[in-house]
Amino acid sequence: MTETRQDQDRMSTLDSAAHIELTERYAAHNYHPLPVVLSHGEGAWVTDVEGRRYLDCLAGYSALNFGHGHPRLLARAHAQLDRLTLTSRAFFNDTLGPFAESLAQLTGKEVILPMNTGAEAVETALKVARKWGYRVKGVPEGEADIIVMEGNFHGRTTTIVSFSDDKVARDEYGPYTPGFGAVTYGDAESVRAAITDTTVAVLLEPIQGEGGVVIPPEGFLREVRAICDEAGILMIADEIQSGLARTGRTFACDHEDVVPDIYVMGKALGGGLYPVSAIAADHAVLDVVTPGSHGSTFGGNPLAAAIGHEVVTMLAEGEFQRRAADAGALLEAGLRPLVGNGLAAIRVRGLWAGLDIEPGGPSGRTMSERLMERGVLAKDTHGSTIRLAPPLVITEDEIRLLVDAVADSLH
Ligand SMILES: *Cc1c(COP(=O)(O)O)cnc(C)c1O
Repeated sequence: MTETRQDQDRMSTLDSAAHIELTERYAAHNYHPLPVVLSHGEGAWVTDVEGRRYLDCLAGYSALNFGHGHPRLLARAHAQLDRLTLTSRAFFNDTLGPFAESLAQLTGKEVILPMNTGAEAVETALKVARKWGYRVKGVPEGEADIIVMEGNFHGRTTTIVSFSDDKVARDEYGPYTPGFGAVTYGDAESVRAAITDTTVAVLLEPIQGEGGVVIPPEGFLREVRAICDEAGILMIADEIQSGLARTGRTFACDHEDVVPDIYVMGKALGGGLYPVSAIAADHAVLDVVTPGSHGSTFGGNPLAAAIGHEVVTMLAEGEFQRRAADAGALLEAGLRPLVGNGLAAIRVRGLWAGLDIEPGGPSGRTMSERLMERGVLAKDTHGSTIRLAPPLVITEDEIRLLVDAVADSLH
């Protein structure tokens, strides 16, 4: 008891520099954070330990689509915390069924498989695709191939980094998992050319988020859909970052009216409160999974399911998709004049933007630091690109503040 009190006192008396020093000393250096130490969040805003406020334009890499501490999500989580948090899947619980039903309806799929992190959901999709290939398509066991995209980001497991072309993410983690081949993102012909008798699936991000908000040419997703249909293979859409209202539609695939065979979801599915991920597919695909052949201790636990259910209920109402579309249009209109005036290019879809800084301008890191000094938190991805993904609750005034901060930080 007294120790807890002392710990709390210590937490509240340490300043930013002391927290940074403590973290750097005792936590592994697998990130290079901006030098800001946050202690509170509400809506689109966060506050650091010295009381400075910042507009959060990273939003937990889109895990915080509904903002910090959304009252509906907090209320649902608090209620569930007091009632039941974990059963394991050895027993049924009274929140997973309703969550699964709602997510199946949102995706238009027959079944879902719940996991925790995004990488686990991607792994689940890959395992299901391989098993489907052997059981349904008749590929000889051990020979299934999956086509992936150059510039992909799907997470951090050994299998997933095996088919990454990001050297830093991949190097020195081998031996690598075989069975994956990369093709040019956005080029349907290269997808078609890569298909062989042992291909079972194509895995892609409908928009490459970590790649710098790379939007493929119009028609690419539709063509991949058609190619997968012709070849009798699965189209897997990793909507972990692009999905759940970020782009102004429920899924980024919706912009091309494309329905993949497997949706992969994470990040915002847990409302920024808790890790919740899932895949959704029809029985014809997901029934290849049988008791014992896949699982997770925490996957589908009552707390996760309650939060996920509230998230899905909020998405089903459509308000967040509209907000993303409207605020995104405002953001694009504000940023457009900066192209040729500090920015080399911008890519915007809904409330999601990739900003390429002109050669000779500040580095991505410097740009992030300048934005921070102006009260805006964002992060560079791949050197000279800044990704903006503010919570979808951001107001028009706050979008203007963001655009002004970007304009000021470029020079
Ligand atoms: C973040 C992300 C992942 C990995 O999710 P984690 O929860 O970090 O494991 C996978 N795919 C995409 C597209 C992502 O943005």
